[in-house]
Amino acid sequence: MTTFKNFIGGEWVEPSTGDYFENRNPADTTDLVGRFPRSGAEDVQRAVESAQRGFALWRRTPAPARGDVLRRVGDLMVRRKEEIADLMTREMGKPLNETRGDVQEGIDTAFYAATEGRRLFGHTVPSELRSKWAMSFRRPVGVCGIITPFNFPMAIPTWKMFPALLCGNACVFKPAEDVPHTGHVLVEILLEAGLPPEVIQLVHGFGETVGKSIVEHPDVPVISFTGSTETGRIVGETCGRMHKRLSLEMGGKNAQIVLDDADLDLALEGVLWGAFGTTGQRCTATSRLILQKGIHDRFLADLEKRASALRLGDGRKDGTDVGPLIHEASREKVESYVEIGQKEKADLVLGGERPSGKDLQNGHFFQPTIFAGVKAGSRLEQEEIFGPVLSVIRVDSADEAFRINNDVKYGLSSSLYTRDVNLAFRALETLDNGITYINAPTIGAEAHLPFGGVKQTGNGHREGGWEVYEFYSETKVGYLDY
Ligand code: NAP
Repeated sequence: MTTFKNFIGGEWVEPSTGDYFENRNPADTTDLVGRFPRSGAEDVQRAVESAQRGFALWRRTPAPARGDVLRRVGDLMVRRKEEIADLMTREMGKPLNETRGDVQEGIDTAFYAATEGRRLFGHTVPSELRSKWAMSFRRPVGVCGIITPFNFPMAIPTWKMFPALLCGNACVFKPAEDVPHTGHVLVEILLEAGLPPEVIQLVHGFGETVGKSIVEHPDVPVISFTGSTETGRIVGETCGRMHKRLSLEMGGKNAQIVLDDADLDLALEGVLWGAFGTTGQRCTATSRLILQKGIHDRFLADLEKRASALRLGDGRKDGTDVGPLIHEASREKVESYVEIGQKEKADLVLGGERPSGKDLQNGHFFQPTIFAGVKAGSRLEQEEIFGPVLSVIRVDSADEAFRINNDVKYGLSSSLYTRDVNLAFRALETLDNGITYINAPTIGAEAHLPFGGVKQTGNGHREGGWEVYEFYSETKVGYLDY
């Protein structure tokens, strides 16, 4: 067992509080991953002062050279992919095939960011006046506060930090308290790739202290937050009051729609992994399955059969399909929604309990759970559960399915299975989500495409794609008389 440090002021240091918290394997809580700093406001203060020095240096480094550092980051991540996937599974629980995908997303983001170093375009625009040049160009903004959730311990920090760094900013990074080891390795890699030390600061600790101090710090003009809508609202209020630039990526209640004409095998595969992959702890998880009446009974029966065969276990063992929930509070939340479903008279067709297996008793495991006959508008159908609970809703028509998809406060992703190309295009236009997948599950992202949601999932910004480079840079206009 190792005791880890913060990275502040260009060196690995102990927290000013002298205090540490334990990080345990959610599949087996007797397995202690490490002790991590339980930092305080003083550590954040030192980190921000150092990041300001780093920013002054880094902003003058040409963008293509900043991109070269990120290319080396990508190379190092490729080399350490297996090791990182393994330690991520140990601290977060999802199976190795998923943590490998999480690291791969970071690798893709690094290589994509590296190319943007040669493409931070502005415009040369004709001026209204004679003898005048007019142009726009991009400048970095300053110190960026990076606050991330537990479910994608590598991908989400890289989505934020790589474009921020590419644009010439410095970062103060607080990983989620459940996944500090992956955060530690990411900072190690950035340093090994040649990032000047004061450009990155790593402050471990809890959201209510470290996260709050970063958000409230007057010298951190940019906050990028991914997490629950409840926390995002608190972060948003502070940032609004302090006129900060803010990117919020928050909760989801995503639906997969399967129409009567769909390829049912494909749709079955989609919902199985969309709903139960990562134990349902994805912002894009399929938590609602909307089935048209013609295929409803058959599809549900097949799904029940396939879902009941999923193997729960330690994600580092061969053959595990579904890992544990991240902590005990998450499992209790899932249990509370099983009770809510029963009170709402939904039909519990699978799961609903902790598993009985002897090897599962030390982890936060919960059975894949399916409720059928869920009513549109019920709590089960409306609220984010963030666990392996799928609500099935029966509809008469595509129009009814589209209406139910849109009738929630969130708007991250949606999916439609149909062979009707006209309907597919109508769905792309009609469904109120940041991402709609046709004949594919509600999950998945690509580094060079914008990722994010509408309504209470986000605040209009995107991660990935060129859009994120706009967030981390200011446009400035220059005029030149000759
Ligand atoms: P969370 O509890 O809201 O935490 C997110 C981050 O915020 C953590 O680092 C947390 O620190 C920190 N935090 C907590 N309180 C804070 C405060 N007052 N000020 C500043 N920071 C604070 O979310 P989570 O449970 O880790 O993640 C699950 C949620 O994230 C779900 O709702 C999911 O839908 C959402 N999510 C959204 C996306 C997206 O792209 N839309 C992607 C992934 C996840 P601690 O870890 O110390 O609590």
